[in-house]
Amino acid sequence: MTQNAELYPWLQAPWQQWQRLQQRLGHAYLFAAPHGIGIERFVSQVAQTLLCDQHTACGQCSGCHLFSSGQHPDFFHLALQEEKKEISVDQVRELVYKLNETSHQGGYRVAWVEGPEYLNQSAFNALLKTLEEPGERTLFILSTHQLARLPATIVSRCQKLSFAAPDLKTAQAWLQQQNPQADEALVKRALRLNWGAPIEAQNWIAAGGFEQDAEWKTALKQMQSGQKTVSQLVEQWLKWADPLQVFDYFYQWSVAAVRQANYQAESGFSREQVQNWLRFQQACLKAKQNWQANANKQLVLEALCFEWLQIQQSGESLNSVFAERASFI
Ligand SMILES: [Zn+2]
Repeated sequence: MTQNAELYPWLQAPWQQWQRLQQRLGHAYLFAAPHGIGIERFVSQVAQTLLCDQHTACGQCSGCHLFSSGQHPDFFHLALQEEKKEISVDQVRELVYKLNETSHQGGYRVAWVEGPEYLNQSAFNALLKTLEEPGERTLFILSTHQLARLPATIVSRCQKLSFAAPDLKTAQAWLQQQNPQADEALVKRALRLNWGAPIEAQNWIAAGGFEQDAEWKTALKQMQSGQKTVSQLVEQWLKWADPLQVFDYFYQWSVAAVRQANYQAESGFSREQVQNWLRFQQACLKAKQNWQANANKQLVLEALCFEWLQIQQSGESLNSVFAERASFI
């Protein structure tokens, strides 16, 4: 079997698997994949292959041209619309209507539901009916990053394929290839800060991540020395393109601190200190959740900074405001 040049190295094995499945295609598949590994591109390859006149995603035929320009009449994409919190029943109805309306030329029709976890209840119900009887030569692909949020009724109607994140070595090799000038330590850090997801890491680098990282490290020093106040720094961070990343930075900081203590038994870090870092690690996760739940962003970040300062400066055990059901909403 041949490699698919359009796909990332870690998606080659799943692609081979899909090639075998394709010989006896079902009518609904659920792709469960972590964020940032390029599942979107995988879906796109699956669809283009089915819609290609040669069944190879050749890139030359009229089917491929229509697909690449986003105008293939037998390809349907349902996803969360910008600024919306859920996929509405109207969106699903429109898809169903189009599926019933289009008279295709005997080929496949492919409907991609991206992020079915965003469907609201009535949208789910509408989709369920169609999943049961999708019509001839119609393939449904559902792709999700949050399998646990999907109702069993949906999952049970699809054949499930799970995609794993690449191992660190594979991800690192790929990322290094994309960024030949970056040194190894930076590439590793980019991956860690992006939870091992290579494409997220690549986007982060492209958006000036290394510079931002350096800025963050400087900020920590300024905070510790009192050169800048917590509110000054928080204000600065809130201007970032994605301020949510501050939580990941703090989280990675605590991971590194704990790791350092574990590797250097003679480092002199007290048990209590290590416990504090672990507590802080949890606080980072909780604080991020608070933030995502529309809490007062300034307050959440400031509270986290003060906890960080506290564990730097005192040996007392940290009572994080995020430990309980603290909410800043
Ligand atoms: Zn083609």
